Amino acid sequence: MKKFIDFCNLCEKLAKITERIPKIRLIAKFLRELDEEEITPAARMLIGKVLPDWSELTLGLSWTSIIKVVKKLTGAKSRDLLEAFSKTGDPGDMARILFEKYRRRQATLIEITQEQLSILDVYKELLKIAQIRGEGSTLKKEIILTGLLNKLSPLEIKYVIKIILGEMRIGVQEGTVEMAIAEAARVPLELIRRANMFLADIGETAKLALTRGERGLKEVKVQLFRPYKPMLADQVSSVSEALAEHGVSAFEFKLDGARVQIHKKENQVKIFSRRLTDVTESLPDVVEEVITKVKATEVILEGEVIAVNEEGKPLPFQYLVRRFRRVRDVQRLVKEIPVKLYVFDVLYLNGKELFDEPYEKRWEYLEKVCPKEMLVPRIITKNPEEAENFLKEAKMNGHEGLMAKRLTSPYIPGRREKHWLKIKPYYTLDLVIVAADWGYGRRKNWLSDYYLAARDEETGRYLIVGKTFKGLTDAELADMTKKLLALKIKEVGRTVYVQPKIVVEVAFDEIQKSPKWESGYALRFARILRIRWDKSPEEADTISKIRELYQKQFEMKGSII
Ligand code: ATP
Repeated sequence: MKKFIDFCNLCEKLAKITERIPKIRLIAKFLRELDEEEITPAARMLIGKVLPDWSELTLGLSWTSIIKVVKKLTGAKSRDLLEAFSKTGDPGDMARILFEKYRRRQATLIEITQEQLSILDVYKELLKIAQIRGEGSTLKKEIILTGLLNKLSPLEIKYVIKIILGEMRIGVQEGTVEMAIAEAARVPLELIRRANMFLADIGETAKLALTRGERGLKEVKVQLFRPYKPMLADQVSSVSEALAEHGVSAFEFKLDGARVQIHKKENQVKIFSRRLTDVTESLPDVVEEVITKVKATEVILEGEVIAVNEEGKPLPFQYLVRRFRRVRDVQRLVKEIPVKLYVFDVLYLNGKELFDEPYEKRWEYLEKVCPKEMLVPRIITKNPEEAENFLKEAKMNGHEGLMAKRLTSPYIPGRREKHWLKIKPYYTLDLVIVAADWGYGRRKNWLSDYYLAARDEETGRYLIVGKTFKGLTDAELADMTKKLLALKIKEVGRTVYVQPKIVVEVAFDEIQKSPKWESGYALRFARILRIRWDKSPEEADTISKIRELYQKQFEMKGSII
């Protein structure tokens, strides 16, 4: 049995190493030394998770609760918290400093309770927190957290808080852990990746690899009601570029909504979002439609749900988002914001897996099980003019544009390949808001000037690449202000610093080199196109992507000149 402090020491070492290979070696060695029941918890916690994304449970502990518990246990004042945070810029480090400095007051109590907890002990307490639901749950969760922190050393507290916030900042992404598992279990990385795509749980993948090896991994299949990671699209700037890649292509309307993965067995239906969270409760009307209209006993479908007006015309993404916010007023929202489901893929049908079938074949199955009005409009062509007209038609009907799909392509979960191409005339970046300034004049009650950051893959930190106050409507500004205040870490002058959780899609004119921000880059004329509630901060664009686009700019400029 490993102690939790061993896990924390590993994390400390990982945070100090920048190269990937030694990181992988350290993690692999650690994983190999674990007992069977410790593997899942340790692998999940390494990427700041207690449960997989698709779990019905979440920790549900807010930053406010954490602060409350930390203050209670240390007797620290808001001023001390701010000081500790400013020194480190990290919530976990802040807690560590406070516990080192102020807990001495309670030293006797600590001595009595101080026995070193194992990885499993800590994990089980966190699970307990996740299992509490319903009325009065916040307080109950805080009580368990208090009990847990009381038994831990400052270093252990630092990591428990990082895990709760889902932000380890030790420069270890899921891909790194996959590589470490491959090394620890001595199996090909491809098998690990494949298993993790279907299981969507790094913990279970690690356990399977280390206990059952290649054979176990090969047996992994898609399972009904367990979501897999969605296939993603590469980007091109025109239909001709898509045709140059595919020869002939299936052009589908690109709908501006939320991607859904629908699992159905007889009258039981579950719907998962792009982030693999269970959104079934928010979409009772879609569930009903699937039950009544889809002709298959067992099926997994993929599609896009969009908000529509009374005439069935598409409404912008912001309307739809409201459907996913509240679970309480669902029936009212169903009436207020009608939605429409369009399907574009089928991956499992009555016991048969379809991932390796070519796109064309899957579409044939789709036509058999779904009524025509549920299918996303599409054409197959190799003629650029025809594709261009179809693009115009999509836009005229209020849709975003087109997706081009290679007719022969399999469905590869979790991968971004050229099999699917989204046609976007300009590049955009998905960036994370890390701070915001209070506005002036009419906007004085809103946090309206946003600091936008890209993820540094090496350190896991979010580095600012620009600032913008453009792009959001008044209603969005008001809503964003509320959301950001709930994520507030500290406030200095006009600036509120927040946990990096909210992702926005940003358009810009140019990327410049600039000493203004630590990232070394600055976006010129950045403006927010929309809030990406469907994206997690880990999915935001990275500093290396910015570097790559910066280079590309010159190539593009060069080719124009
Ligand atoms: P990613 O490529 O990572 O999904 P993104 O969400 O920023 O990034 P988008 O420009 O939104 O990329 O394009 C991909 C998304 O488009 C899909 O995830 C899906 O939600 C949506 N989409 C709309 N119409 C279709 C369609 N016909 N086929 C596939 N995806 C579609």
